[in-house]
Amino acid sequence: PPAEQALAEAVLGAPGAAQRRALAKSITLLESTRADHRQRADALLNALLPHSGGALRLGISGVPGVGKSTFIEGLGLFLIERGHRVAVLAVDPSSSVGGGSILGDKTRMERLSVHERAYIRPSPSSGTLGGVAEKTREAMLVCEAAGHDIVIVETVGVGQSETAVAGMTDLFVLMQLPNAGDDLQAIKKGVMELADLVLINKADLDENAATRARAQITSALRFFGPHAQHGAQVLQLSALQGLGLPEFWAAVTAFRDERRASGALAERRRAQDEAWMWERIEAGLRQRFKQHPGVRAQLPALADEVRAGRLAASVAARRLLDLLN
Ligand code: GDP
Repeated sequence: PPAEQALAEAVLGAPGAAQRRALAKSITLLESTRADHRQRADALLNALLPHSGGALRLGISGVPGVGKSTFIEGLGLFLIERGHRVAVLAVDPSSSVGGGSILGDKTRMERLSVHERAYIRPSPSSGTLGGVAEKTREAMLVCEAAGHDIVIVETVGVGQSETAVAGMTDLFVLMQLPNAGDDLQAIKKGVMELADLVLINKADLDENAATRARAQITSALRFFGPHAQHGAQVLQLSALQGLGLPEFWAAVTAFRDERRASGALAERRRAQDEAWMWERIEAGLRQRFKQHPGVRAQLPALADEVRAGRLAASVAARRLLDLLN
């Protein structure tokens, strides 16, 4: 279709105001829930896909107040100084349960957001977490096609959204405060297992606490983390003072180079793409199932039977599923 072709060409074109507008327009199209928009969005994605994949994809998570926006702004400016183009996307789990947004605040990252070599997009504002994550993955592809070579995907400390972001990035970074309570939380929720790198922020406030936290988390990661064999990566940081950024970036690039050389990075992306496909198939099937006229007619009565103990749940499920044939 000519309109999508023109939009794709503008995304792939020279950096500048026109490209930025095309980027925003493309992502708005991808986020639309209208069926005709979805068709156009799919055409756009197909056109852009061959030009995507070129960025280092970095996931960043941590509880509200840990310093994510301070850190991402500092990191973004640091990377731009070194010639990179940076996109910042977000997966806000609060958007899927309604109510206010935790990450969407427009006043955040003021210096980075006005920089011409940066593109910041708030989280898609509605839908299930799976839906929000899908839109963000697609937005990531568009940003890559536009030539952003670093894509940062931010989320907050809610287990599922962290799993979603770890599942779309090359490297998942968990930000922690220098006190033990937090660390135990993350370990309990299984989030620590997702982390490729742990950053202890606000080290400027209490150096001793930060050092203690680093030792604690390092030993915890030895048991839980994916790097149990290689020794864990835990770094201290002061996002506010910009301390620890070069060390962080050195760790990230070392990690990337090592995984690129071993093929682990490419394998992680292949696995992510396939998992993403299955995730969307399952979501689509569930939706079609619920909309199927036969299912809609029979489901309430069968559910009653199950609740009353007159029908086995598995038998009811099979009967309903057979209606799809
Ligand atoms: P977010 O909710 O995770 O995005 O956290 P913010 O980046 O908004 O930071 C929350 C508060 O912590 C702000 O007042 C920041 O200025 C402050 N902050 C962030 N990083 C540091 C740090 O390294 N040291 C200190 N002392 N304060 C920090």
